[in-house]
Amino acid sequence: MIVTLAMTTTKAFAAHAATSPLATYSFERRDPGPLDVQIEILFCGVCHSDLHTVRSEWGPTNYPCVPGHEIVGRVVKVGSEVKKFKEGDLAGVGCMVDSCRTCSACQANLEQFCENGTIFTYNSPDKKSGGFTCGGYSKSIVVEEAFVLRISDKLDPAATAPLLCAGITTYSPLRHWKVGKGQKVGVVGLGGLGHMGVKLASAMGADVILFTTSPGKTKDALRLGAKDVVVSKNADEMSKHANSFDFILDTVSANHDLNAYLSLLKRDGTMTLVGAPIQPLPVEAFNLIFQRHTLAGSLIGGIKETQEMLDFCAEHGIVSEIEIIPIQQINEAYERMLKSDVKYRFVIDMRSLKD
Ligand SMILES: [Zn+2]
Ligand SMILES: [Zn+2]
Repeated sequence: MIVTLAMTTTKAFAAHAATSPLATYSFERRDPGPLDVQIEILFCGVCHSDLHTVRSEWGPTNYPCVPGHEIVGRVVKVGSEVKKFKEGDLAGVGCMVDSCRTCSACQANLEQFCENGTIFTYNSPDKKSGGFTCGGYSKSIVVEEAFVLRISDKLDPAATAPLLCAGITTYSPLRHWKVGKGQKVGVVGLGGLGHMGVKLASAMGADVILFTTSPGKTKDALRLGAKDVVVSKNADEMSKHANSFDFILDTVSANHDLNAYLSLLKRDGTMTLVGAPIQPLPVEAFNLIFQRHTLAGSLIGGIKETQEMLDFCAEHGIVSEIEIIPIQQINEAYERMLKSDVKYRFVIDMRSLKD
Protein backbone atom coordinates (compact mmCIF):
# COMPACT_ATOMS: atom_id res chain seq x y z
CA MET A 1 0.00 0.00 0.00
CA ILE A 2 1.40 3.37 -0.94
CA VAL A 3 0.35 6.22 1.31
CA THR A 4 0.95 9.70 0.02
CA LEU A 5 2.67 11.65 2.77
CA ALA A 6 2.85 15.40 3.09
CA MET A 7 6.42 16.48 2.41
CA THR A 8 8.56 19.52 3.10
CA THR A 9 11.71 20.61 1.29
CA THR A 10 14.93 20.33 3.30
CA LYS A 11 18.26 21.89 2.40
CA ALA A 12 21.31 19.65 2.57
CA PHE A 13 24.76 18.81 1.26
CA ALA A 14 24.93 15.71 -0.90
CA ALA A 15 27.27 13.70 -3.07
CA HIS A 16 25.90 13.23 -6.57
CA ALA A 17 28.50 10.64 -7.63
CA ALA A 18 31.42 8.69 -6.16
CA THR A 19 33.94 11.07 -7.65
CA SER A 20 32.25 14.44 -7.20
CA PRO A 21 32.63 16.69 -4.14
CA LEU A 22 29.66 17.22 -1.85
CA ALA A 23 27.51 20.19 -2.86
CA THR A 24 24.24 21.88 -1.92
CA TYR A 25 21.11 19.87 -2.55
CA SER A 26 17.42 20.08 -1.68
CA PHE A 27 15.09 17.15 -1.14
CA GLU A 28 11.72 16.29 0.35
CA ARG A 29 11.33 14.89 3.85
CA ARG A 30 8.02 13.55 5.15
CA ASP A 31 6.13 15.75 7.59
CA PRO A 32 5.96 14.18 11.07
CA GLY A 33 3.30 11.48 11.48
CA PRO A 34 1.73 10.52 14.84
CA LEU A 35 4.85 8.64 16.03
CA ASP A 36 7.45 10.99 14.56
CA VAL A 37 9.77 13.60 16.00
CA GLN A 38 10.98 16.41 13.76
CA ILE A 39 14.41 17.74 14.68
CA GLU A 40 16.10 20.91 13.52
CA ILE A 41 19.71 19.77 13.15
CA LEU A 42 22.29 21.88 15.00
CA PHE A 43 25.37 19.66 14.74
CA CYS A 44 26.40 16.60 12.78
CA GLY A 45 29.64 14.68 13.35
CA VAL A 46 31.73 13.52 10.41
CA CYS A 47 32.35 9.77 10.48
CA HIS A 48 34.69 7.72 8.28
CA SER A 49 31.59 5.81 7.12
CA ASP A 50 30.32 9.04 5.56
CA LEU A 51 33.41 9.27 3.40
CA HIS A 52 33.41 5.56 2.46
CA THR A 53 29.71 5.71 1.53
CA VAL A 54 29.98 8.96 -0.41
CA ARG A 55 32.81 7.44 -2.47
CA SER A 56 30.98 4.10 -2.94
CA GLU A 57 33.82 2.21 -1.24
CA TRP A 58 31.52 -0.07 0.77
CA GLY A 59 29.35 -1.38 -2.05
CA PRO A 60 27.14 0.60 -4.38
CA THR A 61 25.84 3.90 -2.98
CA ASN A 62 22.53 5.40 -4.04
CA TYR A 63 22.98 8.96 -5.30
CA PRO A 64 22.35 11.70 -4.45
CA CYS A 65 23.62 10.66 -1.00
CA VAL A 66 23.17 12.89 2.06
CA PRO A 67 25.49 11.39 4.71
CA GLY A 68 25.66 12.08 8.46
CA HIS A 69 24.69 9.87 11.40
CA GLU A 70 25.95 11.76 14.45
CA ILE A 71 23.06 14.17 14.76
CA VAL A 72 22.16 16.51 17.61
CA GLY A 73 19.38 19.05 17.29
CA ARG A 74 16.33 20.70 18.74
CA VAL A 75 12.86 19.15 18.55
CA VAL A 76 10.60 21.45 16.54
CA LYS A 77 7.51 19.27 16.16
CA VAL A 78 6.18 16.02 17.61
CA GLY A 79 3.39 13.70 16.44
CA SER A 80 0.21 13.23 18.49
CA GLU A 81 1.37 9.89 19.96
CA VAL A 82 4.92 10.94 20.90
CA LYS A 83 5.54 10.63 24.64
CA LYS A 84 9.25 11.16 25.40
CA PHE A 85 9.87 14.39 23.48
CA LYS A 86 8.36 17.84 23.29
CA GLU A 87 9.10 20.93 21.26
CA GLY A 88 12.33 22.60 22.39
CA ASP A 89 14.03 19.43 23.74
CA LEU A 90 17.53 18.51 22.65
CA ALA A 91 17.49 15.21 20.76
CA GLY A 92 19.89 12.95 18.93
CA VAL A 93 19.82 10.52 16.02
CA GLY A 94 22.58 7.98 15.44
CA CYS A 95 23.24 5.38 12.77
CA MET A 96 19.73 3.88 12.57
CA VAL A 97 16.26 5.31 11.99
CA ASP A 98 14.16 2.13 11.86
CA SER A 99 14.10 -1.67 12.02
CA CYS A 100 11.41 -4.39 11.94
CA ARG A 101 10.90 -4.33 15.76
CA THR A 102 9.77 -7.98 15.76
CA CYS A 103 12.75 -10.23 14.90
CA SER A 104 14.86 -11.82 17.63
CA ALA A 105 17.56 -9.13 17.32
CA CYS A 106 15.05 -6.28 17.61
CA GLN A 107 13.35 -8.05 20.52
CA ALA A 108 16.77 -8.21 22.22
CA ASN A 109 17.28 -4.44 21.73
CA LEU A 110 19.92 -5.10 19.07
CA GLU A 111 18.31 -3.27 16.15
CA GLN A 112 21.70 -2.93 14.47
CA PHE A 113 21.48 -6.67 13.72
CA CYS A 114 17.81 -6.66 12.58
CA GLU A 115 17.23 -9.85 10.62
CA ASN A 116 14.90 -8.07 8.24
CA GLY A 117 17.33 -5.26 7.51
CA THR A 118 18.21 -2.33 9.74
CA ILE A 119 17.20 0.98 8.20
CA PHE A 120 20.32 3.08 8.53
CA THR A 121 20.19 6.86 8.74
CA TYR A 122 21.43 7.29 5.18
CA ASN A 123 21.66 5.21 2.01
CA SER A 124 19.06 2.66 3.23
CA PRO A 125 15.72 2.02 1.49
CA ASP A 126 13.23 4.45 3.05
CA LYS A 127 10.11 2.35 3.60
CA LYS A 128 8.05 5.32 4.79
CA SER A 129 8.59 7.89 2.06
CA GLY A 130 10.23 5.89 -0.72
CA GLY A 131 13.71 6.38 -2.15
CA PHE A 132 16.64 6.20 0.23
CA THR A 133 17.20 7.62 3.68
CA CYS A 134 19.03 10.94 3.94
CA GLY A 135 21.26 11.76 6.89
CA GLY A 136 22.37 14.66 9.01
CA TYR A 137 24.19 16.93 6.57
CA SER A 138 20.79 18.62 6.32
CA LYS A 139 18.66 21.23 8.07
CA SER A 140 16.15 18.85 9.59
CA ILE A 141 15.25 15.20 10.03
CA VAL A 142 12.05 13.30 10.86
CA VAL A 143 12.47 10.05 12.80
CA GLU A 144 10.13 7.78 14.72
CA GLU A 145 10.36 8.44 18.46
CA ALA A 146 11.61 4.88 19.10
CA PHE A 147 14.86 5.76 17.29
CA VAL A 148 15.37 9.24 18.79
CA LEU A 149 17.76 9.65 21.74
CA ARG A 150 17.49 11.98 24.69
CA ILE A 151 20.46 14.36 24.97
CA SER A 152 21.47 15.90 28.29
CA ASP A 153 21.75 19.68 28.38
CA LYS A 154 24.72 19.23 30.76
CA LEU A 155 27.00 18.39 27.82
CA ASP A 156 28.18 20.60 24.96
CA PRO A 157 25.78 19.64 22.13
CA ALA A 158 28.43 19.89 19.39
CA ALA A 159 30.87 17.61 21.23
CA THR A 160 28.00 15.23 22.07
CA ALA A 161 27.19 14.56 18.39
CA PRO A 162 30.08 12.07 17.82
CA LEU A 163 28.85 9.98 20.75
CA LEU A 164 25.98 8.84 18.49
CA CYS A 165 28.38 6.72 16.38
CA ALA A 166 31.97 6.87 17.68
CA GLY A 167 30.73 6.78 21.28
CA ILE A 168 28.37 3.81 20.98
CA THR A 169 30.74 1.89 18.68
CA THR A 170 33.32 1.82 21.48
CA TYR A 171 30.95 1.72 24.47
CA SER A 172 29.01 -1.34 23.33
CA PRO A 173 31.96 -3.79 23.13
CA LEU A 174 33.41 -2.47 26.40
CA ARG A 175 30.08 -3.30 28.06
CA HIS A 176 29.49 -6.57 26.21
CA TRP A 177 32.88 -7.96 27.27
CA LYS A 178 32.34 -6.53 30.76
CA VAL A 179 35.27 -4.18 31.02
CA GLY A 180 35.60 -2.76 34.51
CA LYS A 181 37.70 -1.89 37.50
CA GLY A 182 41.07 -3.59 37.87
CA GLN A 183 41.21 -4.78 34.27
CA LYS A 184 44.00 -4.04 31.84
CA VAL A 185 42.48 -2.83 28.58
CA GLY A 186 44.29 -1.96 25.37
CA VAL A 187 42.97 0.50 22.80
CA VAL A 188 44.60 0.31 19.37
CA GLY A 189 44.66 3.65 17.53
CA LEU A 190 43.90 7.16 18.74
CA GLY A 191 41.46 8.52 16.16
CA GLY A 192 37.74 9.29 16.27
CA LEU A 193 36.92 5.85 17.70
CA GLY A 194 40.10 5.27 19.71
CA HIS A 195 39.95 8.50 21.67
CA MET A 196 36.40 7.64 22.75
CA GLY A 197 37.55 4.12 23.67
CA VAL A 198 40.25 5.55 25.94
CA LYS A 199 37.82 7.96 27.65
CA LEU A 200 35.05 5.39 28.12
CA ALA A 201 37.21 2.46 29.25
CA SER A 202 39.01 4.62 31.81
CA ALA A 203 35.67 6.01 33.06
CA MET A 204 34.58 2.37 33.55
CA GLY A 205 37.56 1.92 35.85
CA ALA A 206 39.94 -0.02 33.61
CA ASP A 207 43.68 0.62 33.33
CA VAL A 208 43.93 1.71 29.72
CA ILE A 209 47.02 1.32 27.56
CA LEU A 210 46.98 3.06 24.20
CA PHE A 211 48.75 1.50 21.21
CA THR A 212 49.78 3.93 18.52
CA THR A 213 52.20 4.12 15.61
CA SER A 214 52.83 7.82 16.33
CA PRO A 215 54.86 8.67 19.46
CA GLY A 216 53.50 12.23 19.06
CA LYS A 217 50.14 11.07 20.40
CA THR A 218 51.49 10.11 23.85
CA LYS A 219 50.69 13.38 25.61
CA ASP A 220 47.13 13.45 24.31
CA ALA A 221 46.49 9.82 25.21
CA LEU A 222 47.58 10.40 28.80
CA ARG A 223 45.44 13.54 29.01
CA LEU A 224 42.41 11.57 27.74
CA GLY A 225 42.81 8.95 30.47
CA ALA A 226 45.34 6.33 29.30
CA LYS A 227 47.71 5.01 31.99
CA ASP A 228 50.44 4.34 29.48
CA VAL A 229 51.22 4.48 25.77
CA VAL A 230 52.98 1.82 23.72
CA VAL A 231 54.46 2.63 20.33
CA SER A 232 53.41 -0.46 18.41
CA LYS A 233 56.37 -0.36 16.00
CA ASN A 234 58.71 -0.96 18.94
CA ALA A 235 58.88 -4.76 19.39
CA ASP A 236 60.64 -4.51 22.77
CA GLU A 237 57.96 -2.25 24.18
CA MET A 238 55.27 -4.59 22.83
CA SER A 239 56.84 -7.75 24.27
CA LYS A 240 56.88 -6.23 27.77
CA HIS A 241 53.08 -6.50 27.69
CA ALA A 242 52.84 -10.15 26.51
CA ASN A 243 50.03 -12.20 28.12
CA SER A 244 48.74 -9.29 30.18
CA PHE A 245 45.57 -7.82 28.66
CA ASP A 246 42.02 -8.74 29.65
CA PHE A 247 40.59 -7.00 26.60
CA ILE A 248 41.85 -5.12 23.54
CA LEU A 249 39.67 -2.79 21.48
CA ASP A 250 41.10 -2.45 17.97
CA THR A 251 39.82 0.73 16.28
CA VAL A 252 42.19 0.79 13.31
CA SER A 253 40.69 0.63 9.81
CA ALA A 254 44.01 0.56 7.93
CA ASN A 255 45.75 -2.76 7.30
CA HIS A 256 47.75 -3.84 10.34
CA ASP A 257 49.11 -6.92 12.09
CA LEU A 258 46.49 -8.44 14.40
CA ASN A 259 48.90 -11.12 15.64
CA ALA A 260 51.10 -8.56 17.38
CA TYR A 261 48.11 -7.70 19.60
CA LEU A 262 46.55 -11.16 19.99
CA SER A 263 49.75 -12.34 21.68
CA LEU A 264 49.36 -9.63 24.32
CA LEU A 265 46.05 -11.05 25.60
CA LYS A 266 46.08 -13.12 28.74
CA ARG A 267 44.27 -16.44 29.09
CA ASP A 268 40.66 -16.14 27.85
CA GLY A 269 41.30 -12.55 26.76
CA THR A 270 39.34 -11.04 23.87
CA MET A 271 40.32 -8.66 21.12
CA THR A 272 37.41 -6.93 19.40
CA LEU A 273 37.57 -5.16 16.06
CA VAL A 274 35.51 -2.03 15.48
CA GLY A 275 37.62 -0.64 12.64
CA ALA A 276 36.99 -2.18 9.23
CA PRO A 277 40.09 -2.81 7.12
CA ILE A 278 38.99 -3.55 3.55
CA GLN A 279 41.67 -6.25 2.98
CA PRO A 280 41.38 -9.59 4.82
CA LEU A 281 43.93 -9.74 7.65
CA PRO A 282 45.91 -12.93 8.39
CA VAL A 283 45.49 -14.51 11.82
CA GLU A 284 47.92 -17.10 13.20
CA ALA A 285 45.85 -19.93 14.69
CA PHE A 286 48.42 -20.46 17.45
CA ASN A 287 47.71 -16.92 18.66
CA LEU A 288 44.15 -18.02 19.39
CA ILE A 289 44.72 -21.63 20.46
CA PHE A 290 47.29 -20.93 23.13
CA GLN A 291 45.66 -19.18 26.11
CA ARG A 292 42.21 -19.67 24.50
CA HIS A 293 42.05 -16.17 22.99
CA THR A 294 38.97 -14.78 21.23
CA LEU A 295 39.00 -12.52 18.20
CA ALA A 296 35.65 -10.75 17.82
CA GLY A 297 33.89 -7.83 16.14
CA SER A 298 31.20 -5.36 17.17
CA LEU A 299 28.85 -3.01 15.31
CA ILE A 300 27.56 0.23 16.92
CA GLY A 301 24.92 -0.67 19.57
CA GLY A 302 21.15 -0.89 19.97
CA ILE A 303 18.95 2.11 20.74
CA LYS A 304 18.53 1.17 24.42
CA GLU A 305 22.28 0.85 24.86
CA THR A 306 22.90 4.09 22.95
CA GLN A 307 20.67 5.89 25.46
CA GLU A 308 22.52 4.16 28.31
CA MET A 309 25.84 5.36 26.81
CA LEU A 310 24.57 8.95 26.48
CA ASP A 311 23.40 8.89 30.11
CA PHE A 312 26.76 7.42 31.20
CA CYS A 313 28.58 10.20 29.34
CA ALA A 314 26.36 12.89 30.90
CA GLU A 315 27.06 11.44 34.35
CA HIS A 316 30.83 11.31 33.77
CA GLY A 317 31.13 14.51 31.73
CA ILE A 318 32.40 12.65 28.66
CA VAL A 319 32.22 14.16 25.18
CA SER A 320 34.27 13.87 22.01
CA GLU A 321 37.27 16.09 21.24
CA ILE A 322 36.11 18.06 18.23
CA GLU A 323 36.90 20.61 15.57
CA ILE A 324 33.83 22.52 14.40
CA ILE A 325 33.51 23.34 10.70
CA PRO A 326 30.88 25.01 8.54
CA ILE A 327 29.32 22.64 5.99
CA GLN A 328 31.07 24.51 3.19
CA GLN A 329 34.39 23.00 4.41
CA ILE A 330 33.22 19.38 4.30
CA ASN A 331 35.26 18.38 1.23
CA GLU A 332 38.48 19.72 2.78
CA ALA A 333 37.58 17.98 6.03
CA TYR A 334 37.35 14.64 4.18
CA GLU A 335 40.85 15.15 2.74
CA ARG A 336 42.22 16.01 6.18
CA MET A 337 40.44 13.01 7.73
CA LEU A 338 42.19 10.71 5.25
CA LYS A 339 45.51 12.05 6.55
CA SER A 340 44.34 11.63 10.20
CA ASP A 341 44.71 15.41 10.46
CA VAL A 342 41.90 15.95 12.96
CA LYS A 343 41.74 15.97 16.75
CA TYR A 344 39.63 13.88 16.92
CA ARG A 345 36.34 14.39 15.15
CA PHE A 346 35.02 17.03 12.77
CA VAL A 347 31.58 18.29 13.68
CA ILE A 348 29.58 20.33 11.20
CA ASP A 349 27.72 23.34 12.54
CA MET A 350 24.61 22.86 10.41
CA ARG A 351 23.49 26.41 11.11
CA SER A 352 26.13 27.36 8.50
CA LEU A 353 23.74 26.06 5.82
CA LYS A 354 21.42 28.96 5.15
CA ASP A 355 17.84 28.54 3.94
ZN1 LIG B 1 29.76 6.39 11.98
ZN1 LIG C 1 14.31 -6.74 13.37
